[in-house]
Amino acid sequence: MSLLVIGSVAFDALETPFGKTDKIIGGSATYGSLSASYFTKNINLVAVVGDDFPAEKIELMQKHGINTEGLQIKKGEKSFFWSGRYHNDMNSRDTLVTELNVLADFDPIIPESYQNCEFLFLGNLTPQIQQTVINRLKNRPRLIVMDTMNFWMEIALDDLHKTLKMVDVLTINDEEARQLSGEYSLVKAAKKIMAMGPQFLIIKKGEHGALLFHKDQAFFCPALPLEEVFDPTGAGDTFAGGFMGYIAKTEDVSFENMKRAIVYGSAMASFCVEKFGTERIVNLTESEITDRVKQFKQLSQIDLELI
Ligand code: AMP
Repeated sequence: MSLLVIGSVAFDALETPFGKTDKIIGGSATYGSLSASYFTKNINLVAVVGDDFPAEKIELMQKHGINTEGLQIKKGEKSFFWSGRYHNDMNSRDTLVTELNVLADFDPIIPESYQNCEFLFLGNLTPQIQQTVINRLKNRPRLIVMDTMNFWMEIALDDLHKTLKMVDVLTINDEEARQLSGEYSLVKAAKKIMAMGPQFLIIKKGEHGALLFHKDQAFFCPALPLEEVFDPTGAGDTFAGGFMGYIAKTEDVSFENMKRAIVYGSAMASFCVEKFGTERIVNLTESEITDRVKQFKQLSQIDLELI
């Protein structure tokens, strides 16, 4: 089943308590599509980069089975650049620089061969562009999942609200859920956000796992307790890519299957944070992923007889 992924393909410069990187590749669509590629080989990417973006990194995506026909390369322009610094707890970070560059006037052209996709992942990007992509698809995909961040809540809230009305699933972190809803309680926040449009809401809580809400149902998946978290950048997008990839592979958009998809997404995110940038998620094996999912099962399974 085909999965369309749109988002940023970027250069990131990162600072964590463990070290610093110069410009390395990142971006919501990079992490999302690489992560999904372990579940389905029918991934179509729509994004934009400048001609400063290394050709071998595009080839790397292609080697993962990602179709890059929809990746625009703008001559003489610079790729999106983001820089962030993590605090000692590794759960919070400050954005140091956001240079939109090619993203500033990105026109997301959907190649004809991408039409009729069943699943759409709208990675973190201008809400206006996310909307344009939905409008340019001739048939509505079976499931539209959208990610966003505080940056867009601050500068494009009206557009964000419009886009929210068009999607099925929203993934955001706890801080952003509170900001969007104005509620401290995540349960109250979830109700308010679902009333804004998406029927399903995933709230990511970093090292404290992820919550899935749908109507009056809720599900919680813990994060794997890791000895060392090296760099959390992209964990959210890697999570979303694993979630989408699993849904596309199983072709089942029920709440029950989304619970399983969240476990796979969490497993993928747990790999992402073990090394800087995309380093860990470009070289995974199927058995590593299966073993990790088993660890998640063990972590949260409990045999309990009611007395
Ligand atoms: P995450 O850690 O999952 O929130 O994702 C981090 C990735 O998002 C980085 O690789 C950045 O390049 C990308 N990113 C950061 N800010 C933005 C933005 N405003 N729009 C699109 N992508 C962004």
